[in-house]
Amino acid sequence: YTVALLFLDLDRFKIINDTLGHNVGDKLLIEVSSRIKSVLRQSDMLARMGGDEFVVVLESAKNKSSAGFVCEKILEIVKQPVKIDNFKLNTSASIGVAMFPSDGDDMQTLIKNADTAMYYAKKQGKDTFEYYDEKLSEDVHDQLVIEQALKQAIQKNELYLNYQAQYDLNTKKTKSFEALVRWNNDKLGFVSPATFIPIAEDTGLIVPIGEFIFKKACEDFMKLKQIDTTLEYIAINISSIQFRSADFLNNIKTIIEEIGIKPSQIELELTERYIMDFGEDSIKLLNELKSLGFKMSIDDFGTGYSSMSYLSKLPVETIKIDKAFIDYIPKNNNNLQITKAIIALSKSLGYRTVAEGIEYPEQEDVLSDLGCDIGQGYFYARPQSFEDIKNSLIL
Ligand code: C2E
Ligand code: CA
Ligand code: CA
Repeated sequence: YTVALLFLDLDRFKIINDTLGHNVGDKLLIEVSSRIKSVLRQSDMLARMGGDEFVVVLESAKNKSSAGFVCEKILEIVKQPVKIDNFKLNTSASIGVAMFPSDGDDMQTLIKNADTAMYYAKKQGKDTFEYYDEKLSEDVHDQLVIEQALKQAIQKNELYLNYQAQYDLNTKKTKSFEALVRWNNDKLGFVSPATFIPIAEDTGLIVPIGEFIFKKACEDFMKLKQIDTTLEYIAINISSIQFRSADFLNNIKTIIEEIGIKPSQIELELTERYIMDFGEDSIKLLNELKSLGFKMSIDDFGTGYSSMSYLSKLPVETIKIDKAFIDYIPKNNNNLQITKAIIALSKSLGYRTVAEGIEYPEQEDVLSDLGCDIGQGYFYARPQSFEDIKNSLIL
């Protein structure tokens, strides 16, 4: 005999509520709760925790997987479009599952742990459920520790930039550098950007951090440009959260005026996953940046399933093929064909192509033959400190 507690949170509810009004939001909640009820048994219990959060107690759960089965039913029925007034709304849910007594023997602990699991379901990309596991709590703890340390990272001078060369595959010369942030904390040691950037995004810390990176990268570029006047631009990664923040455009305008760098000397890298679900405001901002002269690049291309016809309408000039497709070419024929297709399509649409993650000469050979414009990867150079880059340019 066991009881399962499900913690459910609607995805995108806040957007619906904010854009269509509380009246529509309330009706949606009523509809969702009656749908959830419809897949539960008499003995189960449904309660609203406030906002768009619900708790379900499954008396009837025999074991973990029977609770999972109920989650699947709930996800399925919540996903069906809801008609309210004249709107057809699409929503979905994220659910966390905690089992009594193995994941907690009182209500408070069960809710807390189911909530933690729900948070992970959201992280998995929403519209899914996740079982609680002690490991999750440890992860949440780790995240909190990182978050606390990250809050002071700028003031404590713990963040710095590395630069990785981008090679012109025609002239075989360094054309530019990509700025990559690094973090070294006294207690945590070296933390990879793949770990801390998502946390910075979740907490909004990415806005000041991103501004710091942007400024530093521009300053460093101007110094490098004095040594090597043939350098064309600096590539800077921009997080979607940073891009969407209210003052983004004004901030970078102020910075570039201060430093005296031209927009055409800056390439902003935005990931394809993000660009894919761009709203009108974001497209407007892209156009504005473009008209100011900034170069725009789509990073991690090929992983976001966007259509070329959509991309062709975007004001970008560079497509950066994701490393996953560059790996093992030409041996891996699948990757080779995808890379070939991306380069051919990009060319026909007038985009420049960059291949990232080149590690071996054979990869460079194929990419050159295919007409790829720029190469980046350990084969040419690892990300290096500013000092090392400077010295290599002087030599
Ligand atoms: P990304 O923008 O796709 O950056 C490329 C990553 O691939 C970098 O990892 C780089 O060091 C690595 N790399 C480059 N060449 C090779 C290669 O030949 N082989 C292999 N195995 N790896 C290679 P890194 O620096 O750890 O950054 C990881 C991700 O963190 C970046 O992916 C980017 O999404 C994010 N990131 C890094 N710096 C920044 C930043 O300044 N701002 C923002 N918003 N995100 C950043
Ligand atoms: Ca990048
Ligand atoms: Ca990339």
